[in-house]
Amino acid sequence: MIYLDNAATTPPCREAIDASVFAMNEAFGNPSSLHGLGIQAEKLIDFSKEALARALGGVSKEIVFTSGATESNNLAIFGLAENYGRRKKRVVTTAVEHPSVAEAFKKLSALGYEVVAVKPDQNGEITADALVSAVDKNTCLVSAMYVNNETGYILPVESAFSRIKKQYPDCMTHCDFVQGFLKLPVKVKSLCADAVSVSGHKVHAPKGVGALWIKSGVRVAPATFGGGQQNGLRSGTEAVPAIYAFGKAVEAFSGNIAQRLERAALVKKYAVERLSEAGLVINSKENASPYIISAALVGIKSETLLHFLEAEKIYVSSGSACSKGKKSAVLTAFGLADAVADSTVRISLGFDTEKNDIDSLAEALERASKSLVKSDRGR
Ligand code: PMP
Repeated sequence: MIYLDNAATTPPCREAIDASVFAMNEAFGNPSSLHGLGIQAEKLIDFSKEALARALGGVSKEIVFTSGATESNNLAIFGLAENYGRRKKRVVTTAVEHPSVAEAFKKLSALGYEVVAVKPDQNGEITADALVSAVDKNTCLVSAMYVNNETGYILPVESAFSRIKKQYPDCMTHCDFVQGFLKLPVKVKSLCADAVSVSGHKVHAPKGVGALWIKSGVRVAPATFGGGQQNGLRSGTEAVPAIYAFGKAVEAFSGNIAQRLERAALVKKYAVERLSEAGLVINSKENASPYIISAALVGIKSETLLHFLEAEKIYVSSGSACSKGKKSAVLTAFGLADAVADSTVRISLGFDTEKNDIDSLAEALERASKSLVKSDRGR
């Protein structure tokens, strides 16, 4: 099998699997219990908080564990808007966000906020200037992703957020860092963010765990109420096995980010050459994250191609896994013509993707081009 859908999810690593089994077998106590078993479980959470904080460049008390980045994004957006948007009702985001941000902003709009979603320009770029000029003195929150999950496009979050913070120190900044975490050597300080979302299953931890980093002193209103766990920010007994596994996966992959990035860039360069030779249009920009390649075999529907490749045990996504066959509003926002967007597949590299995996993909694509063109293009 050749797995090239790592932006959708990654296989849990050995360290994460062993950690979750250990937590279930040996440390099953409730982390809020005062006895030894509870304290043992609490220690596993503390380990993971420290691992996440170290990888992000923060401190452990700034980490809140959630059920995934969808919850982290929702917690940050609603929690910041509630505390900082009493009088300032304008909120800014981009038109290329993951649905867990885009839908949260739709809800803010329904709640009476003025929502501005900055669109890519005619070059498919969202510039720092465009983000900064969308913000005014009535803006309480800006949320922008670091790496777009469909195209790998890297947004100028650092320069935009640092300028916004200089001009409007009271405006809160949130970054969905899911596709950049442990892939790009970026720390929260340089992001100038007040809150940063990450997800476990994109970095070889299990599904169902994520984290929100919240800068010390920043107030995020809770969305769940109950036993007051995690400093009252996220009530509910912590998912210790998943959290411990997340910490172990982060520990395993928090070194060598720059070396892995360099390696991925070489594989991407090779992939772009091979895919172009196979007749694909490459949508991803040259300076996009090397881990995500958006490309189209124009005339063949994404899903048709995806299933053709699947029959050869090669796994990719159509656009993004979250769009599930629906037309991607994000690809359209990036300026892709309908015919290209409808034929787009996302090839997302893992840390271990090799050039020969790309060769197998390119050969399969050549076969697809020969055998599918007639059936699909003729329609
Ligand atoms: N943001 C981005 C950019 C993503 O790629 C994803 C996952 N597709 C999410 C948020 C949601 O993460 P989770 O699956 O952990 O809820």
